[in-house]
Amino acid sequence: MNITHNKSLIVEYKKKKSGWYTHYPINGLWSEEVQDNHFVEVFKNFSQKNKDIDKDSQLYIHFPFCPKQCLFCHCFTLITSKKDKYSQLVNEIKNEIILKYELYGDKLPINDIHFGGGSPSVLDFEQINDILNVIKKVSKQEKWNDVAIEIDPRNNVNEKILIDYSKAGINRISFGIQDFDKRVGKAINRTHTFDEIKSLLTDTVRGNFRSINFDLLYGLPFQSLDSLKKTLEIISWLKPTRLAYYSFQHRPDLYRHQTAINSDNLPNIELKNAMNLLIQDALKKLNYKKLGLDHYINEDDYYYKDLILKKNIERNAIGYSPKTSHNIIGIGPSAMTSIDGHYFQNFYTLPNYSEKISKKLNPIARGWISNIDDIIRRGVIFDIINNGIVNKKKYEDRYKINFNEYFIKESPQLLKLKKDNLITENSIYINETEIGKELRIYIANAFDIYKTYKHSKDFFDGKKASDRIYQLRNN
Ligand code: SF4
Repeated sequence: MNITHNKSLIVEYKKKKSGWYTHYPINGLWSEEVQDNHFVEVFKNFSQKNKDIDKDSQLYIHFPFCPKQCLFCHCFTLITSKKDKYSQLVNEIKNEIILKYELYGDKLPINDIHFGGGSPSVLDFEQINDILNVIKKVSKQEKWNDVAIEIDPRNNVNEKILIDYSKAGINRISFGIQDFDKRVGKAINRTHTFDEIKSLLTDTVRGNFRSINFDLLYGLPFQSLDSLKKTLEIISWLKPTRLAYYSFQHRPDLYRHQTAINSDNLPNIELKNAMNLLIQDALKKLNYKKLGLDHYINEDDYYYKDLILKKNIERNAIGYSPKTSHNIIGIGPSAMTSIDGHYFQNFYTLPNYSEKISKKLNPIARGWISNIDDIIRRGVIFDIINNGIVNKKKYEDRYKINFNEYFIKESPQLLKLKKDNLITENSIYINETEIGKELRIYIANAFDIYKTYKHSKDFFDGKKASDRIYQLRNN
């Protein structure tokens, strides 16, 4: 197959809808029937099991406030600069951490911590440190593995604060940048310059963090191959150890602020595809290796060996990490929790969240209680997303199934993927091809049993989410 054929096939696939797998099933399907009582049961079970086997978890803290609305944003945010609102939420976050600790009945097994948002870096250093001190009191581990924070370089950040972060134990930083072109920045209500980022990334700062990430986007309004080349050149001067280069999705139907982006100014799908190829090529020349779907990492990153050489990769809503924390305890409005394969999400709205916390109740708005089929399919989907390979024997040994028989209904879709030269298959492995690397999501999609369901009440077995916890007990 020639390059032109491959390009047109990629474009054809990319016109189709697909899941965005940071969870399986995707969180749009989680049910409001999964509530606090389900969470309590799963969390107590987790605690009980941990008495015998030492499990681990990451504490994810979501701070949703941002001073300004960026137009490309898909995160759950609340736009305000009011410091009293920040302080109130910091107190509620601390209370929620203590609530989880009391429910667990012992010190929490915390390996990793991630401050996400929103913009956690708008908080004063003392407020971040205050939260870390509460975590110290309830954490089984005296020394954490990975402690990360997302940074908006425009607000409240300077070299001193970054060094203070590192003294408090934070060892990974991630800068939201998106693009360095002025016209693009204006169109998305967010501009950054080389000098601004250079003044933050001093030698001392670089020496204090083991991973420095930039978040970037392609497919933005007014972006062109030429403007992207300039952004990539600036990246080559600034040398982050990691990049997340996402494809921009214009969804004014879901995010009202995106109605301010005129779709006429967006690159078409062919140009977007060319941008993606340009990024991959440029970053390869700069010695970055591709990680999963859309991340890139170089040898200066602390986790390069784990993630690239050992392929020890875990993907979740906050990107890729080595498999050090299999469970995530989400804290703060909209935060997502993943415990023993089950999912829970906190209330989005502050009044709901605050009310639950003031009553010492877990602020669970919805979730998903997984059955054994969900767990098997999730494993296969993430093996594809992370490494582009499925070892059928692993599933046969672990779950006592015959892989080909178990996925017999998926065989026509797999056949189509083979015909299109996206995968090869033998008795042990499903492997992506070179062209399949560009279309991993569509390979993973073949194993998603929920892909045709529109909302949380369309379960394939006609049962409600609350019934499923009993199914799980019987499995
Ligand atoms: S991109 Fe970041 S800073 Fe901008 S609105 Fe979204 S969360 Fe806030």
